[in-house]
Amino acid sequence: MAVPTHYSDRESSEVFAARDESGLAPYAFLSRDTRGRKWPEEEHPYRGPFQRDRDRVLHCSAFRRLAGKTQVFTGSMGDYHRTRLTHTLEVASIARTIGRALRLNEDLIEALAYLHDLGHPPFGHAGEDALDACLADEGGFSHNRFALTLVEELEIRYPTFPGLNLSYEVLEGQSSRLDHHRADGTPPLWETQVVEAADSTTYDAHDVDDALKLGLVTLNELREIPLVRDLTEDLEDRFGPLEGQRMRKALVHALIDRQVTSLVEAAEQFLATHMPLSADEARHSGFRFELDGELLQRKRELEAFLYERVYRHPKLIKVRRDAQERLQRMFDAYVRHPEWLPPRFQERARRVGIRRAVGDYVAGMTDRYCDEQFRRRLGH
Ligand code: MG
Repeated sequence: MAVPTHYSDRESSEVFAARDESGLAPYAFLSRDTRGRKWPEEEHPYRGPFQRDRDRVLHCSAFRRLAGKTQVFTGSMGDYHRTRLTHTLEVASIARTIGRALRLNEDLIEALAYLHDLGHPPFGHAGEDALDACLADEGGFSHNRFALTLVEELEIRYPTFPGLNLSYEVLEGQSSRLDHHRADGTPPLWETQVVEAADSTTYDAHDVDDALKLGLVTLNELREIPLVRDLTEDLEDRFGPLEGQRMRKALVHALIDRQVTSLVEAAEQFLATHMPLSADEARHSGFRFELDGELLQRKRELEAFLYERVYRHPKLIKVRRDAQERLQRMFDAYVRHPEWLPPRFQERARRVGIRRAVGDYVAGMTDRYCDEQFRRRLGH
């Protein structure tokens, strides 16, 4: 999806930048350099543009619904594991840690982190795959694209324009999740890259925690992976034998710490010899927020383990299959009965077609609401 290009109204924020961004590095993106918003707005007296963007995402209804959406494990599996909301908050926290260590723009980072998973449908990737299949003839379904649809079209917040009217750089950052660079080949801003790296750090760590807690894998099984074996041996050298929850918690902490430290140190090493003097220079510098080769290889081994032993665990496969079937049947039922859609989605169907409008409506549901509608509409 192309980011709109008609951002003529710059939201100059000299006062905010001077007060709140004076401590940022020269390569950080400064709010005074924003290309602004699609719909012109007055500058806020004391909040900068990315601070406002973060608040807009935080206060939107799709953000609250993340509390009711599956990350990996569904609500029926207990109440310890991450939801899509707590995953998002952990991503924001880790991304801010990296951003602050490197004096990047934390407001921009936080806005991007809050936004990054906003477009997930109910039931996690199972739900996404089901919707993608339902919409195969209409261009498919992507949660990254749907996040943009939500904040540009579907969220209702302002009297005179649709969506949240977020700043160009926030929309551009989210767009880069679709194709990893702008249509003209420009690499993502460092703030965007930090959120990407934090997302991956976060889910690998918390999926280990949740999978252990749910008993889908044991610590001994996880220790077959070199990265986990090394980290747990380090921990036992420092603290002596650790059992159960203490080891699980220490391992998750170590997994995050090892990755965040690697990312920050790689950036510091680069900056010691190449100091970009603007955010634009930084994004074109060739430096990417990626783990160093050996750690990256070890992380991939961990991810392969999680894929085989956790995401494809028989318990999850069953939940996944059930969710996909329910979503598919719901989708077909709403396409046959457009009158079941709320009026504004009926109106939307006239503009974007019934299948896309149903996809948008269903994608906005929480797991619970989706189950409830399934029972109500299909009598199960
Ligand atoms: Mg995520």
